[in-house]
Amino acid sequence: MSASGDTTGIPYYHYRWKKKWLADYVAWPESTEQVSSIMKFASDRKIPVVPRGGGTCYYGSASPTRGGIVLDTKRMDKLIEVNKEEEWINVEAGAVWEILDTELRKQGLSLPVAPQSGVASTLAGWLAIGGKAGIGTPKFGSMVDNVVGMEVVRPDGTIDIVTGDDMMPFFGTSGITGVVTSIKLKVIPTPESTEGLMFAFQELERAIDALSRLSKTKTQPIYLRLTDLEYEWRIQGGLPPKTTGLFFVAATYSGTTDEVAESIKTSRGLFEIAGGEEIQQAYYEKNWEDRNIVEMKLKLEVPTLSMQNFWIPLPHIEPLVRKMYRIAKDYRINSCFYLVLGGSSMARLCVFAPSDHRHWMHFMSGKAMLHRLVKMMYRQGGELYTIGLQNTVYIKKYQPNDFKRFKALRKKWDRKGIMNPDKLTHCIMSYTRMNLMFTMNGNFRRLQAVLRRAKNILQIPVAYQEGHF
Ligand SMILES: Cc1cc2nc3c(=O)[nH]c(=O)nc-3n(C[C@H](O)[C@H](O)[C@H](O)COP(=O)(O)OP(=O)(O)OC[C@H]3O[C@@H](n4cnc5c(N)ncnc54)[C@H](O)[C@@H]3O)c2cc1C
Repeated sequence: MSASGDTTGIPYYHYRWKKKWLADYVAWPESTEQVSSIMKFASDRKIPVVPRGGGTCYYGSASPTRGGIVLDTKRMDKLIEVNKEEEWINVEAGAVWEILDTELRKQGLSLPVAPQSGVASTLAGWLAIGGKAGIGTPKFGSMVDNVVGMEVVRPDGTIDIVTGDDMMPFFGTSGITGVVTSIKLKVIPTPESTEGLMFAFQELERAIDALSRLSKTKTQPIYLRLTDLEYEWRIQGGLPPKTTGLFFVAATYSGTTDEVAESIKTSRGLFEIAGGEEIQQAYYEKNWEDRNIVEMKLKLEVPTLSMQNFWIPLPHIEPLVRKMYRIAKDYRINSCFYLVLGGSSMARLCVFAPSDHRHWMHFMSGKAMLHRLVKMMYRQGGELYTIGLQNTVYIKKYQPNDFKRFKALRKKWDRKGIMNPDKLTHCIMSYTRMNLMFTMNGNFRRLQAVLRRAKNILQIPVAYQEGHF
């Protein structure tokens, strides 16, 4: 069970209630040769194989849907080579980000980028979901920009070294083209200083404006985040101190002490001009310390957490967030968000619908809200950030070219269809059925609300009402 589920609860629902979707076998290979043997064995017998790292990806990406083998790569975590002069390392792909970073720091090196799930997720896991926005990405680019080469095992068991454009079929493709076994990754000298600051804003547009202005300066934060009050309250277990602000921008810089001080000065000036109010440094520091666990804290805070991840240009964030509040209010449910900057003015916007699945209408209304936001997001020129199992249905409907590309990749590399089946190239539910279900649910919930029968089951000290908490 621990190798078959993830944070979404969808796999759990299937194997708990429908008695399917559990892995038949779990393999923990310790070398590329072992991965190759497993792939040959599976390919000969047409057994499905699901590569898996930390299993931190939402959306059922690393969960089996047809049984078979879960190929857990976490024992492949050796640091093979360190080249300090040329600033790269060669490392097995199941290495966990934070453990690797700690190891590298002993040698005066650091990882330029990492996901916020770095305490548990693996190098290949982030690569396979695209690795576009995380810590370091506004300054050092995404995973694509930091991988120099990789060793892979093709679905038929062949071992290959890939570089340049040949690596592209492995980014954001959920392992359907093969198992990544080791990665040659850029590293940087450990920065002298890492510091940041946090500002509160009364209005969403001002906070977004400050954020986008800052992203255009030369300051290059390693982490730039926007959150709302409910999110802050949920992850920190209390309201931010001494502020009446509703939206919060946090920026973190790393580099030489002088560079960092200069960048902080610039951003402070910019935030002040935008009407922001500085938050106590201790609060910012707690937030930074918790950067790798905040989403999990949110998950622990509420019985059931539904979420959706958008990849959207900064100027299109505001209408989407406003719509989120409006629907949440109409449906009498909770919603909150956080946003982190990737590279080139694109942001990863995570919208949460905290709920309790035992209150079916409340829970389904959260899902219906996320569905409506996805439709709006596509009209705004965004894309879904992670595809996995759960979002393939949207890719087929709204990103037909990507869907075709995934199918072509599967056809080219995985003719027997054994690699992570049902991800990216096949939908387990039809869009029409899903759309109908959520539309009916949303309308029914609104009717309940009009008749004063829709109860918000979650207690919070803040409530967003027509633009004001
Ligand atoms: C608290 C938290 C914070 C997060 N923060 C971020 C963030 O800042 N940025 C971000 O982009 N995402 C983030 N995520 C999402 C998630 O962490 C990333 O998707 C993560 O990097 C996945 O890594 P993993 O090792 O857990 O992969 P898994 O969940 O195990 O797998 C993810 C996908 O990769 C495939 N895969 C795994 N290993 C291999 C391999 N060796 N070869 C080929 N395919 C493979 C799997 O089949 C699956 O499709 C966060 C998640 C959590 C829970």
